[in-house]
Amino acid sequence: MLMVFVRHIFSCLEGEGTAKNRGLRAKNLSPEKLRLWRHCACPKYYTGTHNGQWFGRTSLEVTTWDAAERTLSAIIEALDGKPKAGAVALEDALEHAARSNVPRRWIECW
Ligand SMILES: [Zn+2]
Repeated sequence: MLMVFVRHIFSCLEGEGTAKNRGLRAKNLSPEKLRLWRHCACPKYYTGTHNGQWFGRTSLEVTTWDAAERTLSAIIEALDGKPKAGAVALEDALEHAARSNVPRRWIECW
């Protein structure tokens, strides 16, 4: 399984605060929890196996967890050779429905 993880920058590990409580984040979270910490803007990476193939640490070139998961999903779909799901914009779907004689009351429900 491929998974997203974070490589924290030094200032993130230090956390905010006074000299007295600096370094709290790194001290209070286990290494594994730090690796999966979603609440910062540090660079996101992925690693793991997919269909028996090992993928070493690779940058996703994003800094949010949501973007990282979306990018990784696209990578997995590309590896699987599947077309991207959900690529149709709502406006396009509504326009297509209007042209296809879908009853207006159904479209209004969407
Ligand atoms: Zn961080």
